[in-house]
Amino acid sequence: MRLILMGPPGAGKGTQATSIADHFGIPAISTGDIFRANVSAGTELGIEAKRYMDAGDYVPDEVTNLMVRNRIDEPDAKPGFLLDGYPRTTAQVDELDGMIAFTGHKLDAAVVLTVDPDELVARLLQRATTGGRADDTEEVIRKRQDLYTTETEPLIELYRSRGLLVEVDGMGTVDEVTQRIFAALDIIPES
Ligand code: ADP
Repeated sequence: MRLILMGPPGAGKGTQATSIADHFGIPAISTGDIFRANVSAGTELGIEAKRYMDAGDYVPDEVTNLMVRNRIDEPDAKPGFLLDGYPRTTAQVDELDGMIAFTGHKLDAAVVLTVDPDELVARLLQRATTGGRADDTEEVIRKRQDLYTTETEPLIELYRSRGLLVEVDGMGTVDEVTQRIFAALDIIPES
């Protein structure tokens, strides 16, 4: 199973990614988490990524693409993977297409979580109050949302046109959303 999980900041991608990945026995690969781990470890990649993340900007495609390519090449991702937060630009879509085609497989589905804009801001500000992430300030949240709208939202139509889009209502409890995702995905045959 090869899946991507999309949705605006605050849609609950990270929360749902682990459940979906566990269900299918595949790794959940979160570009945000990998960047944050590199920032914490003080690696060269982390030092470069931090500049962009703190401002709510996307890390440059070349950097992100190489990182995902290396991660997907690892043995645990051979049977499949769930990508959380990648691709976010058309250049990343092209890169992912190439990576998957190279292995002779195909993408099974692009899951997108839809959540009311007001609810998104409320969730992110709530996370900020509980000692969340450095990029959960009001100004940076707005920047991330704007970038999502201009750069990433158009990818939804692209995956719809490919017949791969699975839209899931992301409102409600975590469990409710998980069950909706499972119900939507279990009907897709494994490739
Ligand atoms: P969110 O979806 O809430 O913005 P993530 O944890 O997925 O949070 O991402 C945090 C940050 O990591 C992003 O704002 C961006 O700077 C960087 N990032 C994550 N994924 C990508 C990507 N595919 N391309 C470029 N930058 C990315």
